Amino acid sequence: MELLSRPRGSVLILGTVQPDGDLLGAELALGLALLDAGTPVTLAGPHPVPALFGFLPGAPLIQWWRTAPGPFDLVILGDCPDPSRTDGLLEGVRGAGTRVVNIDHHPDNKRYGDLNWVDPEASATGELVYELIHAAGFKLTPEIATNLFTSIHADTGSFRYSNTSPRSLRIAADLVAHGAQPALVAGALYEGRRPEDLKRLGELLGRVEVSSDGLVAWLALSEGSVPDAFLEAEDLVTYPRSIRSVKVAILLREVGGGRVKVSLRAKGDVNVGAIAAAFGGGGHANAAGCTIGASLDQARELLLRSVADALARR
Ligand code: AMP
Ligand code: MN
Repeated sequence: MELLSRPRGSVLILGTVQPDGDLLGAELALGLALLDAGTPVTLAGPHPVPALFGFLPGAPLIQWWRTAPGPFDLVILGDCPDPSRTDGLLEGVRGAGTRVVNIDHHPDNKRYGDLNWVDPEASATGELVYELIHAAGFKLTPEIATNLFTSIHADTGSFRYSNTSPRSLRIAADLVAHGAQPALVAGALYEGRRPEDLKRLGELLGRVEVSSDGLVAWLALSEGSVPDAFLEAEDLVTYPRSIRSVKVAILLREVGGGRVKVSLRAKGDVNVGAIAAAFGGGGHANAAGCTIGASLDQARELLLRSVADALARR
């Protein structure tokens, strides 16, 4: 705990590719808590903060690095199951004397830190950072509360998914008591669309496909067909998921270089983390992802076969 409550030397909080609400909220909450306590800290990651998350207090503090500037004494990662997700930055900041702290809730965390705090029972890494902030005696400011509330809000699907626990709701209640505003967070995440965004969403919803047995639904997007900013703002995989009969939802995005990014969501019937792992990715039982070297059609066929097999084995 001393390591985190009164760190010595240079401190870096490091993010990953495709940073989501949990990762950014957890990283900013911890960063602001350390800064408020008088510890200089650098925040950085291999991806710019998506515009959607620009409302998070402290978001402009996060630097976008293509390469690491050199070693730090202490490097803290939150919500990062695998160092490869830092796009080489962890290797670049890890010197001989560096201590790496890995705080995460992914069950497939690779335990790459010198200190690993991995709790798959936590709905979000933000829950763990909340507990850390308490244990370290840091002040829970409204800015920190907003970041942590966003973390938990994001990973529980706005308190709708099966990982929404008494613990996550109790923590969320305390965060609201400390100044997080649920309507502000939900408004920033879900009501920031322009008219053309809603029209685009309507077109895409019309392209969701459903298997003949109704158990699987997917949306396949060819390269460049949808702007990146739109994809970052819309959690498109939630729409195929929203069909009652659907057990597994899939979003496939062709990203160039013969690669397809895949997001998988389940409702407790099959472990999509295991399916993603079979394709070199990973994640949680009900939310996982991978990147496949294949054409869009091939990737879709591979995934549909793999999901159908998993459903048949259940
Ligand atoms: P996403 O579908 O991108 O929102 O990701 C859902 C979950 O799967 C998150 O917990 C991610 O950390 C994880 N995940 C997504 N893509 C990958 C990947 N290529 N490798 C490992 N884990 C991934
Ligand atoms: Mn998370």
